[in-house]
Amino acid sequence: MNLAKKLDALSAPGMLYEKAEGNALRCTACAHRCLIREGKRGICQVRFNSAGNLQVPWGYVAALQADPIEKKPLYHFFSGEKALSFGMLGCDLHCDYCQNWLTSQALRDPAAEGAGRFVREITAVELVALAHQTGSSIIASTYNEPLITTEWAVEIFKTAKTAGLKTVMVSNGNATPEALAYLAPHLDGYKIDLKSMQEKNYRQLGGVLQPVLDTIQRAHEMGLWVEVVTLVVPGFNDSTEELWEAARFLASVSPNIPWHVTAFHRDYKMLENDNTPPNTLLRAADIGREAGLRYVYAGNLHGFAAGEYESTRCPHCDKMLVQRHGFSIRSYRLTDKGECPYCGEKIAGRWTSEPAKVDLHGSGMPRVI
Ligand code: SF4
Repeated sequence: MNLAKKLDALSAPGMLYEKAEGNALRCTACAHRCLIREGKRGICQVRFNSAGNLQVPWGYVAALQADPIEKKPLYHFFSGEKALSFGMLGCDLHCDYCQNWLTSQALRDPAAEGAGRFVREITAVELVALAHQTGSSIIASTYNEPLITTEWAVEIFKTAKTAGLKTVMVSNGNATPEALAYLAPHLDGYKIDLKSMQEKNYRQLGGVLQPVLDTIQRAHEMGLWVEVVTLVVPGFNDSTEELWEAARFLASVSPNIPWHVTAFHRDYKMLENDNTPPNTLLRAADIGREAGLRYVYAGNLHGFAAGEYESTRCPHCDKMLVQRHGFSIRSYRLTDKGECPYCGEKIAGRWTSEPAKVDLHGSGMPRVI
């Protein structure tokens, strides 16, 4: 069976769409808003029109492991806890530097045809049971783009919340107001990529800038916990002007949004650009701070001055509050109310109410299931 047939068999009726003329449908799961005629697929290739009905991915995962929540990366969302992380196949963008291209570009790039071997049928109840077995207090929809599988994520999140788990999505942010409204009652944390501030760059990746900016603003206003990641790619988005533009935008939404600037390494089709030098990343982090962001992190530095840029300090008294090394927590000093114990400053985020139970040192290695 080819991959498309295999995935089509693992689908269910979707919710995020509008009826269009004839038997056509307008999908509203992501900002592409594809008009899908009968028998056709959307840009992501995994949502399709079957006899006038929208079918969407359902009942499988293509990647599954228990990760430290710091790996998503989410640094202000129950630090030190584990997230059972699941991915599926497909994406609505086609980033040339994607590190998960084998799964994200399934059905879009013939070179990714072999991704079918990762598919594993599973139910929401089984996923929640696996979360408990692995000591995960969080379930994360991640690895590929979760917006294109929103309905299946919501099914899992509903079951997870009933079982007392927290829920997050790790997304490119190319959302619609409809998808966010559908997700929000069941979602706690939302990591969003801000890949560039240039429209031409987003076009190159297969998207549009404004919906991503709108998603960051809207998700924050809806009360989701939002952290933003910018992969800094030399020659693509690393100019001082562009980094300032991104930082100013985030600070205008809220200075409490954590901004992660992370290093690019050559991958997939982007093999010409240089890997990000540490100094570029540190320049980006400094710009974030100068722009007024209170929590700025530099990731993928591979040991270069990493500790200072991975850890959370109090923005008021500058004392070390969460000391990280890689994905591990070395020390944790927040109070049970998420405050600095030295000056009482409230630290933005969602924090454990039982700091004594934070898993120091132990959260570093992902657990493959
Ligand atoms: S999720 Fe996005 S890309 Fe996929 S069909 Fe819907 S609108 Fe199109």
